[in-house]
Amino acid sequence: MLVSPHRTDRPWQGQVEKTPAPAAITYDPSCYLCPGNSRAGGNRNPAYTSTFVFDNDFAALRPDTRPGEFREGMLAAKAEPGLCRVVCFSPRHDLTVSRMAPAAIRAVVDTWVTQYAELGAMPFINYVQIFENRGEMMGASNPHPHCQIWANESIPAEPAKEQSSLRAYRDSNGGACLLCDYAALEAGRGDRLVCENASFLAVVPFWAVWPFETLVVSRRHLTGMDQLTGGERDDLADIMKRLTTRYDNLFEVSFPYTMGFHQRPTDGEAHEEWHFHAHYYPPLLRSATVRKFMVGYEMLGNPQRDITPESAAARLRELPEEHYADSSR
Ligand SMILES: [Zn+2]
Ligand SMILES: [Zn+2]
Ligand SMILES: [Zn+2]
Repeated sequence: MLVSPHRTDRPWQGQVEKTPAPAAITYDPSCYLCPGNSRAGGNRNPAYTSTFVFDNDFAALRPDTRPGEFREGMLAAKAEPGLCRVVCFSPRHDLTVSRMAPAAIRAVVDTWVTQYAELGAMPFINYVQIFENRGEMMGASNPHPHCQIWANESIPAEPAKEQSSLRAYRDSNGGACLLCDYAALEAGRGDRLVCENASFLAVVPFWAVWPFETLVVSRRHLTGMDQLTGGERDDLADIMKRLTTRYDNLFEVSFPYTMGFHQRPTDGEAHEEWHFHAHYYPPLLRSATVRKFMVGYEMLGNPQRDITPESAAARLRELPEEHYADSSR
């Protein structure tokens, strides 16, 4: 990783992004996620009033995938059964997490916990990946507030890498947890802290690659979201709202990001090495219209960042927690 803060001074003549304002209408008759509307494939959404979960009509993973392996010399592949679901956060087409009421975000947290337990209990599901792509810049095909859940038999590459690091740390530190120790370190320093509550810290991690990347980590050692108490579920909703509000306020735009949770695989083992957390990966760098590209040296050499994690955290920390007034709404 390279950190080169002098680089933000360079003139920018590259791509300028459009960051569309969030939808201004509470119901869109052409939206396949709004209550009562029909989806591709002919299914109709119920007139839901809180969250709504359905199997993705265009699932990348299917439960009826037959077992199979392919081997040809150095090439190998394996059939991967799984499930893809969509979770609508709200019947309101115009909302984002930052604009939802804390009680409504808490209902989303409860839905995630239910889905994690339900999908994880299926014998062929060993990992449940919950993630949200927010904004067109991150490829979100619809502004309606929603996330996806992909659940499958193999542990995907990113959590598998984390799992081996968590295990290695535990083995060489007398059973200690890497993320418990890291959370304590950041709480003690404070210079990479964005916001906190009784149960969670939001920090720009020391190793952050994206300019305003953050890590939301629980103070208590929890291997998965199914171990959250009621109070901790409220606190997760609280920190997500406060963090995403700061993001929106940074450039006074509905801030795009990919976020998702990492937690214990659902393969039936205890996985005491795991520590529940969320990553936020926003693409914007210096304004609402200039994004960070992971190209060139980043692809071929090392990640490089233009602002230090400490200065990114300070900018987010100093922002108000009231949402900016959007004149288009
Ligand atoms: Zn909608
Ligand atoms: Zn821990
Ligand atoms: Zn992670």
